[in-house]
Amino acid sequence: MSVRPIPERDANRARMEAAIGAAWPELEAFALDLHAHPELAFEERRSAAALVAALEGAGFEVEVGAGGLDTAFVARHRFGPGGPRLALLAEYDALPQLGHACGHNLIATAALGAARALRSALAADAGELLVIGCPAEEGGGGKILLLEAGVFAGVDAALMFHPGARTMTIRGALAATRITMRFYGKAAHAAGAPELGINALDACILTFNAINALRQHVKDETRIHGIISHGGSAPNIVPEYAEAKFLIRHRRSEEVAALRERVLAAARGAAAAVGARFEFDEGLAYSERKVNVPLANRFAEHLEAQGEPVKAAPAVGGVGSSDFGNVSQVLPAIHPYVAIVPEGVSAHTPDFAAAAASPAGLRGLRLATVALAATAADLFTEPELREAVRADFEATRTAGGTT
Ligand SMILES: [Zn+2]
Ligand SMILES: [Zn+2]
Repeated sequence: MSVRPIPERDANRARMEAAIGAAWPELEAFALDLHAHPELAFEERRSAAALVAALEGAGFEVEVGAGGLDTAFVARHRFGPGGPRLALLAEYDALPQLGHACGHNLIATAALGAARALRSALAADAGELLVIGCPAEEGGGGKILLLEAGVFAGVDAALMFHPGARTMTIRGALAATRITMRFYGKAAHAAGAPELGINALDACILTFNAINALRQHVKDETRIHGIISHGGSAPNIVPEYAEAKFLIRHRRSEEVAALRERVLAAARGAAAAVGARFEFDEGLAYSERKVNVPLANRFAEHLEAQGEPVKAAPAVGGVGSSDFGNVSQVLPAIHPYVAIVPEGVSAHTPDFAAAAASPAGLRGLRLATVALAATAADLFTEPELREAVRADFEATRTAGGTT
């Protein structure tokens, strides 16, 4: 652990607080502007352009279209030769119908605000600061695509925050995989010649029943949830095609891989039972989230120093999945939460969307922006913290642990 005196951390935070305070009216306006112009995954052109312009204006060199994704970017500033390469991650996609109901306008603005503060007020003579613009967190797996394209190569640590209902810095997320199931039968007149038909919808319904029979015999914290996305075209036609979409999640990727086999076996068996043919395709596999504890603790310290108490995460439940999990498996990373709504209010709701542009949302944004900037500043200036962060990452990798 760090042996540096705490006054140095306080000095870093005070510098960041001053810089962020000076830019605050602009940052608030930026967050509200993104909120007023929500864009869906992979279509975040206006939001990405606004971030790119703001970062260029602050002296960053920006590569637009990073990793081959139109709405991704990497902004860079080098303080000096050598030193760590740190990335602040910005998300800026919104949700269909609901707008910024996951508060990604605040995530993007925090990355921008922290980057500006570090660029202008950090006294560092080594290291490089990146802002990585990550499209399509909501179902598109943008960070997975950026990882595969090598955009995170050479990054020593990645930091972001997410608005939530509880301020907490150590919080896992589930590994997940998405499967689209396709059942092919044979159409026939449902009353006049049913003996000639093969009912693809029956195969689909049997799949749901077989999966429900699995539920008693899976590990705790398994989540398997699906919908029928196509169930036939008319009640007097034996459905020749049916389609279901499923998500399978668990705290550990290996468990998701094992469950995937059982779910596919259920679908194959159901198709065989009625004589239908089964095919499937799979979306990107999301890894479980690994929290870097020394880094999360430092972020917590900078929140508490601003008067925001940090709580422990609930023991079970309340977790989803994110493409951030894949990032956290390959480099030290944190994804802490800062409360902008009371506990019991969920993200992906109209209430959360309203909160992302409310005084409570902007308060959370300011706390998070300062904590992000101060934590990154400490990483640049404290070799001991970087060592602790690296050691924690290596230890949890060999232990296969997820916090
Ligand atoms: Zn979301
Ligand atoms: Zn989100």
